Amino acid sequence: MAHLYKCTKCDNYTLNPKICPKCGGPVSDPKPPKYSPQDKYGVYRRKAKRASINV
Ligand SMILES: [Zn+2]
Repeated sequence: MAHLYKCTKCDNYTLNPKICPKCGGPVSDPKPPKYSPQDKYGVYRRKAKRASINV
């Protein structure tokens, strides 16, 4: 399946990973693979665990 990028200017979806072929604006990955929300929740989990031990 092809990876789609989204233009930040005109919201056009394109296969071009760098620029939008429609308006020449910058594109962004709608689902950035670097971002991991699980790490954020992991912090809260560890805090909650520590709190329960202290009680
Ligand atoms: Zn565009």
